[in-house]
Amino acid sequence: MYVTRFAPSPTGPLHLGNALSAYTGWTRARNNGGTFLLRIEDIDTSRCRPEHEAAARADLAWLGLDWDGTVLRQSERGAVYAWAIARLRVMGLEYPCFCSRADIAAAASAPHGPDGPIYPGTCRHLSDTERSRRMAGEAFAWRLDVAAALAITGPLTWHDSEAGPVHADPAAGGDVVVGRKAIGVSYHLAVVVDDAAQSVTEVVRGADLFEATHVQRLLQALLGLPTPSYHHHPLLTDSEGRRLAKRDGAPTLAALRAAGVDPAAVRSALDAARAAPATPWRLGEFGLPSHL
Ligand code: GLU
Repeated sequence: MYVTRFAPSPTGPLHLGNALSAYTGWTRARNNGGTFLLRIEDIDTSRCRPEHEAAARADLAWLGLDWDGTVLRQSERGAVYAWAIARLRVMGLEYPCFCSRADIAAAASAPHGPDGPIYPGTCRHLSDTERSRRMAGEAFAWRLDVAAALAITGPLTWHDSEAGPVHADPAAGGDVVVGRKAIGVSYHLAVVVDDAAQSVTEVVRGADLFEATHVQRLLQALLGLPTPSYHHHPLLTDSEGRRLAKRDGAPTLAALRAAGVDPAAVRSALDAARAAPATPWRLGEFGLPSHL
């Protein structure tokens, strides 16, 4: 049984890039007699807003995309994530990190990954006494000791429908944060726990999240969770090859709707993008306004 999900973070209105993820997942589910689920990734309560969730649901409905079953909302699942964080800690795979973003950026040798500078491992070597002393008074995040984790799991692979078998390389992303005080759980850990809870068989999402899969595969192995297969679809780009992004004026679905655009035209445009993924998107060719 094929199961996939669309997992928006309600931090703003859905744009055409989000629509491509949703439409790709929905199409693959409906063509396979499968299930298409909606998950609201609202763990970061400082940035997520209920009105964006409501708007996302309305946008999907306007586009003609229906979802199955109940909507899973990450803000309601703190206890499950706390279990996962505790389990990794009991396995001896987490350590408290007291570094600020500025500390990490300033570390001379810090190379950059897709999420910014890679953590240089500063707090991995603190003594237990030092950790206890600082945890009593300082803010900290729990980080995954990736090398120690890989020593337990051994080499890992995952399957991508575009790239084929992929050797997981979580070490390239450094010791990621799995939990912190304000947000509780990290994006990576919540996604892995929820894909398993929702019995997702194929994760459909944009190629910008391809690199995130390495550490997510590691977390699945550590927590004894099944590994879905992956379909990372190419991103929509403008005629200069730049990713279509809301900040550059890429239309939101709400704006297209307000401008009276026919949702069938949007779906045709998304079909064309799926059929010719490397082609820059010229919205005008599909009767869509390029800026609204
Ligand atoms: N919530 C993530 C986003 O909106 C997507 C996570 C995922 O599909 O794994 O970018």
